[in-house]
Amino acid sequence: NGRVLFNEIPTGLPVAGRTTVYDASQTIDLDSVPLNGGFLVKTLVLSIDPYMRGKMRDPSVKSYSPPYFTGEPLSNYGVGVILRSENAAVKPGSHVYSHAFLFQEYFVANDASAFTVLENKENLPWSTYVGVCGMPGQTAHHAWREFAHPQKGDVAFVTTGAGPVGATVIQLAKKDGLKVIASAGSDEKVEFMKSLGADVVFNYKTEKTADVLQREGPINIYWDNVGGETFEAAIDAAAPRARFIECGMISAYNGQAPYYVKNLVLIVGKQLKISGFIVMDLFAKHLAEFYREIPAAVARGEIKYLEDRKLGLEHAGEAIVDVQTGRNKGKSVIVVAQE
Ligand code: NDP
Repeated sequence: NGRVLFNEIPTGLPVAGRTTVYDASQTIDLDSVPLNGGFLVKTLVLSIDPYMRGKMRDPSVKSYSPPYFTGEPLSNYGVGVILRSENAAVKPGSHVYSHAFLFQEYFVANDASAFTVLENKENLPWSTYVGVCGMPGQTAHHAWREFAHPQKGDVAFVTTGAGPVGATVIQLAKKDGLKVIASAGSDEKVEFMKSLGADVVFNYKTEKTADVLQREGPINIYWDNVGGETFEAAIDAAAPRARFIECGMISAYNGQAPYYVKNLVLIVGKQLKISGFIVMDLFAKHLAEFYREIPAAVARGEIKYLEDRKLGLEHAGEAIVDVQTGRNKGKSVIVVAQE
């Protein structure tokens, strides 16, 4: 039973093999492991998300998401299949989605309320349920519906546009008929954003965000996934009463840059509406609609997605670093087992 343990709190970027370690020493007898009223899950796919870095902290520091503990397996969103169950709500053979997957090939869980049985009527790859049809897709959909208030003629600027959140936002903004400016960190990612229909695409490493926004703006909607200088450039380029959707600030997750933004005073005069959010808080209002609409739209090819798949749990440590540094090309998933 391979697994990935949290080993050491990182100071800057996480390091595979040090921050996290792959451990193959544990054995689980699948036929006899005690379930104590719970169920045995075989992990098929695990999601690697930017917010996992925030869980790698001193556990005494409070945050919206609980910390990882050293010596214990990592946990995150995943999809798996139930092998055995002593809980009537979770039947053997069914596929489940949860944020409570352990980074283990097999694990026993007890809290059925944390697991959603996936019907997957559209017969999509299971990995989509941690990407475009899972938490990142929900982040894009829920916050766009809640905070964007798109108007005819609006211009939207989307950052990290090649990742699962940004790529979905680009497509929702295009469906609403907006002009979309989108940025990412490589020419290959720029091509992908173009294929999604974004009108103006650029590599922020070779072209200055402020220059592009000055040329193509002003902007009415800013989708922030990066913070820092980009946030600052968006404030400068904002139209009066622009909506800022503060989804993430990855440019500082690893302590590389300050969160400091110099031109906050413009928020007053421009009457900007700045909305930070945590996706879980939007589930009650938007999740049912999401599951009614998005998997079917993905199956029809109306919403496109790109995945960066790594085969085998032993690659989880590298994948975590890749997502923090931009080496991932699309939604980062670990394929732990095929079925
Ligand atoms: P991605 O797959 O887009 O991965 C993160 C990307 O961030 C990298 O690929 C990289 O892309 C970019 N990046 C890394 N470092 C920097 C930097 N210094 N400056 C600019 N860009 C950088 O991730 P997701 O689509 O899953 O998540 C996107 C954002 O959404 C994250 O900020 C995440 O924290 C946030 N989020 C927030 C949620 C919420 O509830 N508020 C829920 C889910 C996600 P590139 O090559 O383009 O630089």
